[in-house]
Amino acid sequence: MPAPVDLTFLGGLGEIGRNCAALEAQGRIVMLDCGQLFPDDLPGVDAVLPDFTWLRERADRIDGCVITHAHEDHIGGLPYLLREMSFPIYGSPFTLGMVRAKLKGARVPVPELVELHDHDRRRIGPFDCEFLPVTHSTPSGLMTLFGTPQGLILHSSDFKLDPTPVDGRVTDLPRLRELAAGDGIRLLLADSTNAGTAGATGSESEIGPVLRQVFEDNVGRRIIVGAFSSHVHRIQQIADAAAGSGRRLVVLGPSMVRNVTLARDLGLLRIPERMLATEDELADLGPGRVCVVCTGSQGEPRAALALMAQGRHRCVTICDSDTVVFSSHPIPGNESGIGRLHNALARRGAQLVHSRQIGVHTSGHGSADELLALHDAADPALFIPVHGEYSHLVAHHELALGRGMRADRVLRCTDGDRVRLDDDGLRHLGRVSDRYVMVDEAGRPVSDDLVEERRGLSGEGFVVVRVVVDGRKGRLAEPPFVETRGWVDPSERDEWCTAVSEVVAKALSSAVADGERDTKELGRLARRATGRLVSKRTGRRPALVPVVEVR
Ligand SMILES: [Zn+2]
Ligand SMILES: [Zn+2]
Repeated sequence: MPAPVDLTFLGGLGEIGRNCAALEAQGRIVMLDCGQLFPDDLPGVDAVLPDFTWLRERADRIDGCVITHAHEDHIGGLPYLLREMSFPIYGSPFTLGMVRAKLKGARVPVPELVELHDHDRRRIGPFDCEFLPVTHSTPSGLMTLFGTPQGLILHSSDFKLDPTPVDGRVTDLPRLRELAAGDGIRLLLADSTNAGTAGATGSESEIGPVLRQVFEDNVGRRIIVGAFSSHVHRIQQIADAAAGSGRRLVVLGPSMVRNVTLARDLGLLRIPERMLATEDELADLGPGRVCVVCTGSQGEPRAALALMAQGRHRCVTICDSDTVVFSSHPIPGNESGIGRLHNALARRGAQLVHSRQIGVHTSGHGSADELLALHDAADPALFIPVHGEYSHLVAHHELALGRGMRADRVLRCTDGDRVRLDDDGLRHLGRVSDRYVMVDEAGRPVSDDLVEERRGLSGEGFVVVRVVVDGRKGRLAEPPFVETRGWVDPSERDEWCTAVSEVVAKALSSAVADGERDTKELGRLARRATGRLVSKRTGRRPALVPVVEVR
């Protein structure tokens, strides 16, 4: 009987982000992506990672990691995992260029990087892999066919079926049809992001004419375009529109500069040298002669657009001859930050162009019709929806059933699930941790308790009460000292501190007179007296910090 193949989903099934899975056969492991999740509303947290414990315990069995493409939700976890272990990383040259820059930026040793090209075949650990091109919102994405003891497992990567991609590199469905007609594809793992969206996602090349129109409508004005720095084909179309209207291009934002350089070096981005202008040349170019392409269209607080909106950018001061184009769509969770950015730019006089007005953006993920076309081409025996919020996974599951797949051929999985593929089909094998591992900028862990405490402090503030007891005389050595922040209006602070000091003095004086000397017990009494006054009189629940000293 052929050996079973086990799949472990460490992230990405139930949220958009931290995509990470492991395929295991004959005791060897190949990882598939290693991403992070952008924290939404987690104070002091810079990245949310999968729980790597399961991988850590099996580090000596990992033969490599296939990275499907260069988005953060697929590569962002690598600097953290590679601090504690090393394995070869497989990906397209663009993906590996991004990975290398990321690891170097984090001062993490760069492991062996193995370049993959379209249609390459390569043995990785126990699997014979084949890599096929997919179209997505960053170049050189690859879907992977894992040849396993249990037949072919196809991972779609993030993809859409763009008939006219900017680089002409279409998702390779014909090869899937060929394989389906041969020995067949046993298991499909496919992107669910837009499963709930009917029809087909528009082609990336539809954006070019819209951008050209924006440039025609803004003759004589300075045009500033915010876009994702990894969206090379969008940047190409922005550059083409700028060239068509006789403008030079200024690239701003460290990640935008880095990615444009990488993509030009690899021949993925065609911008002639003479068209590029530096930040310093910007001042000498008239508004109608320049186009700025920059980061920050998601409202990122430290990116170029945010600095411009705050009037803090080194070389761009927004004025009423500026048109700012948002050539991206708000990622859920970023809407309010983007709203604030729009307002700040508008207040400085800029005219705004965004995707709610005209088609300056299209998604990189295929909608329902495209997913069905993938299912039709691959015609898999078994299916697990991956990459999506839970509702996206459900929508994709339903699409597969609607196409006529038998209910027992689809397995719904979520973060932390382990499943086994063997001669009997697919079944749940157990669970590993699906905990959100939160880290700060330096990669230090941030616990749930710490996040909770920070939330409490930001919403309710704190009150510190310091009490000094004269143990020999059996009384307080001085009136309790009280300090507070974020609890009451600063103008009323002294008044409230005096009130707290009085109730604590009263509560502790009698206990001390009765012989209580235990600092913990006295702290508890101080906290109770403070808490009662604070909640009764203000209805708030600030953090209470009693400090008691017995001399
Ligand atoms: Zn992606
Ligand atoms: Zn993704």
